[in-house]
Amino acid sequence: MQMQDLLTAEELRHHRSLVKLAEDNWAVKSVHWERDQVLPDDVIDWCAREGLLGAMLPREIGGLGLTFVELGLLYEAFSRVSASLASLVNVHGMVARTVLKWGTEKQRGRVLPDLAAGRRLAAVSITEHSSGSDLSGIETRLEHRPGGLFLTGTKLYTTFGQRADLFLILAAAADGQVLCLVDRETPGLRTEPITDLLGLRAAGLARVELRDCPVDPEFVIGRPGFAQMVLVPHALEHGRHAVAWMAAGMLALAVELCAAWAHRRQAFGRSLADLGQVQSIITEMTVDLAAARGLCISASRALEAGEPEATRSVLMAKYFACRALERHAPQAVQVLGAFGCLEDNGVARLYRDSKVLAIIEGSTQLLERLLAPHIAQAAAAARAS
Ligand SMILES: Cc1cc2nc3c(=O)[nH]c(=O)nc-3n(C[C@H](O)[C@H](O)[C@H](O)COP(=O)(O)OP(=O)(O)OC[C@H]3O[C@@H](n4cnc5c(N)ncnc54)[C@H](O)[C@@H]3O)c2cc1C
Repeated sequence: MQMQDLLTAEELRHHRSLVKLAEDNWAVKSVHWERDQVLPDDVIDWCAREGLLGAMLPREIGGLGLTFVELGLLYEAFSRVSASLASLVNVHGMVARTVLKWGTEKQRGRVLPDLAAGRRLAAVSITEHSSGSDLSGIETRLEHRPGGLFLTGTKLYTTFGQRADLFLILAAAADGQVLCLVDRETPGLRTEPITDLLGLRAAGLARVELRDCPVDPEFVIGRPGFAQMVLVPHALEHGRHAVAWMAAGMLALAVELCAAWAHRRQAFGRSLADLGQVQSIITEMTVDLAAARGLCISASRALEAGEPEATRSVLMAKYFACRALERHAPQAVQVLGAFGCLEDNGVARLYRDSKVLAIIEGSTQLLERLLAPHIAQAAAAARAS
């Protein structure tokens, strides 16, 4: 089944208008974002004004109230022009959704209206020097001391950490790990840009230094120990859903660019599109794209319905879409030849970003570990029925 068979007419219209919006406004400009390693303020402000930063929040608190499918289609469309732009909506949304689902009334009231309107930008600071896939050894500490609660540690690779106003920080406390919300203005918080990354070059990554930062106890989310088991997996599930769709969008762009180039480019008296090896590359890409989109749509619908299988569906979508993109992005450069090595045509960006997408929000290897018990459980249930 193709995407058009799996989406409603309304969803397809929403997708077409987002793709047009992204391509008309940013397809050319985004080349400069990559070169300059920055997403310009006017683009972020425009997204905020259009409500796109609150896309995943309900209308009652000022969001757009998009469904998971509509949200996925937004990531799909944005990642065609810039995975960094799609990542902005993603990380901001991970914080917003965490506060929406697990925050207290006070946390929701104080934080969500600003996040929905994009008046403040939010970022997620989980990874540390010695804790990436395995978060059990987080060293950032939240400690009770005379005078209150204080946070000390160093976070790495915070997407849009250069720009964010609010950080969702994972820390170890006496009774287990916690997530807390910390303002950029907090004394002791300092950010340092991380530049010259392989991919997501416009995503404003930062290292976040926390030196005895005072933390308002009312801005610690959930019970101690709850973070590792529930809150972080919940936030990451949203991140994985986004990255799966981003990979599908980038794969869609790869197919379009390859097909167009193969028809235009002549070699040995024929167009590339008539050569069997090129046909194989484009066919595999196209079929994998259809499969990736199918898995993404199924994951989005499972999240929307709150199905127990949603976690497995999201893991499968992220696993498949990122692996497919990682396999096909180099092939896209190959089909375009030397032209593919130029920045302006888009496939060089896909090539770089494809590797990053296979690492963030759970690496391919970590997802295999996480999927294995789900697959075993499903097999046991099938045997029992
Ligand atoms: C562009 C970019 C943006 C990012 N944004 C953020 C952000 O906003 N916030 C944030 O907190 N972090 C962010 N990160 C960090 C990212 O989440 C981590 O890089 C990721 O979780 C992997 O952790 P790691 O890099 O420490 O790799 P490691 O965990 O050290 O893994 C290294 C390699 O070993 C493999 N591996 C690890 N464990 C196993 C295992 N059990 N079995 C088999 N193989 C294994 C991994 O798959 C990987 O290939 C970002 C990273 C990048 C590159």
